[in-house]
Amino acid sequence: MHNGTELAVSELNAWYGESHILHGMQFEVKKGEVVTLLGRNGAGKTTTMKAVMGMIPNRKGSVKFGNEELIQLPSNRIAKLGLAFCPEERGIFSSLNVYENLTLPPIVKPGGMSLEEIYQIFPNLKERLKSQGTKLSGGEQQMLAIGRILRTGATLLLLDEPTEGLAPVIVQQIGAMIRLLKEKGFTILLVEQNFRFASTVADRHYIVEHGHVIDMIPNDQISQNTKKLETYLGV
Ligand code: ATP
Repeated sequence: MHNGTELAVSELNAWYGESHILHGMQFEVKKGEVVTLLGRNGAGKTTTMKAVMGMIPNRKGSVKFGNEELIQLPSNRIAKLGLAFCPEERGIFSSLNVYENLTLPPIVKPGGMSLEEIYQIFPNLKERLKSQGTKLSGGEQQMLAIGRILRTGATLLLLDEPTEGLAPVIVQQIGAMIRLLKEKGFTILLVEQNFRFASTVADRHYIVEHGHVIDMIPNDQISQNTKKLETYLGV
């Protein structure tokens, strides 16, 4: 692995029961990069994130975080190393209010953001601290889901379709937030189906099909590759 690589995934295979879902996934994310996994529904993007996080018991291959091999580690150990996963379904506890949701995940490493820093990035959350999870809009839920992992001290953020189902103005806010987190030095792996959004935030894009990577497109070459991407993604 070369210097500056934060996450290196190679020959990653994963199964749900008898179903073999990941077939030799291979990609890397350098420190401070924003990288997307793009692909159609069912291509294996979410499964890749879960396998990296140790949430799929039946997996093999290699997942290296810096010099540390994660493939044999349980998910709580992986989280403690500083990887955080923000699931597509967001995982907000509806019976808890915004403050309780924000402060629920344990701090895993020193250096996480303070609540004040999180409120600066997501001013809406500060206004709604006492609101229950269920009372939030989709966009507010997404911001809460991301905000609470920033407290934990994680440095590698795995964000699964953060823009899914959100209005265009909220999608723009999520884009600005991702660019800000990059400026602050976070490394981000992003699952997306919308390459036009992905191109506003990411440095590179891996195309996933049938559980493996079939192509990699640097963001500065995306305009020359629009037709190809439309074919890959079926849009
Ligand atoms: P999506 O955008 O739909 O989430 P994806 O690329 O993230 O697409 P995955 O969710 O990783 O795709 O799913 C890959 C394959 O694994 C699909 O065929 C899906 O049906 C299957 N799969 C996902 N979760 C499970 C599960 N818990 N048990 C069995 N099969 C699953």
